[in-house]
Amino acid sequence: MKDTAKHQGLRNHLVQELIKKGISDKTVLNAISQIPRHLFLDSSFENFAYQDKAFPIGAGQTISHPYTVAYQTQLLEVKPNQKILEIGTGSGYQTAVLCKMGAKIYTVERQIELYKTTSVLLPKLGFKPVLMTYGDGYKGMENDAPFDGIIVTAGAPFVPKPLLAQLKVGGRLVIPVGEDKQVMNLIIRVSETRFQQHELGDFRFVPMLENKSR
Ligand code: SAH
Repeated sequence: MKDTAKHQGLRNHLVQELIKKGISDKTVLNAISQIPRHLFLDSSFENFAYQDKAFPIGAGQTISHPYTVAYQTQLLEVKPNQKILEIGTGSGYQTAVLCKMGAKIYTVERQIELYKTTSVLLPKLGFKPVLMTYGDGYKGMENDAPFDGIIVTAGAPFVPKPLLAQLKVGGRLVIPVGEDKQVMNLIIRVSETRFQQHELGDFRFVPMLENKSR
């Protein structure tokens, strides 16, 4: 599959739709207008890739809605060169958005099949995370902490403590919390010991899988 003028037109349309839905961060919109979402999906979805919808990506997982990607990314307030940890690499689309914004990305995926596919796809498309790993996102990435931002792209039953511990002071954790449906939480580390928690809109994510070996 190629990226053509037709795809660019569909992306411009999607960006307008996201603006109408309330996304205002220009750096986020700019990244979405440039990233070929259709290349992160099976070719059978090519004609639908720029609709604001979730699609299957294999291993029972889905790529998030573009609105959800934009909303979570906007909440992270990413600046170039910041260190960002992503839990749930999935298709790699959210990872690509963060790379495009100039952040240094560390990303972890729990499904081996997705990890293998996406770790080949991202560099092929010109997106280079600092680290892509296969592992359990509940633990974060202790060796590479602390992070300026952490984004969880699966529904978490609770806020994992290691993720709070791996945030810099001033850092932001964006995490959907809940079992059947999730409330988007923005947690800001305001000091070594204090966290400010904001509960934002309702969303629906695939569940964050607890460690299978437990
Ligand atoms: N950011 C992805 C969203 C994929 S859906 C995208 O843009 O395509 C959420 C992903 O989180 C799935 O790929 C799922 O396998 C992964 N996941 C679920 N539980 C996890 C865990 N404990 N650790 C790491 N990844 C996990």
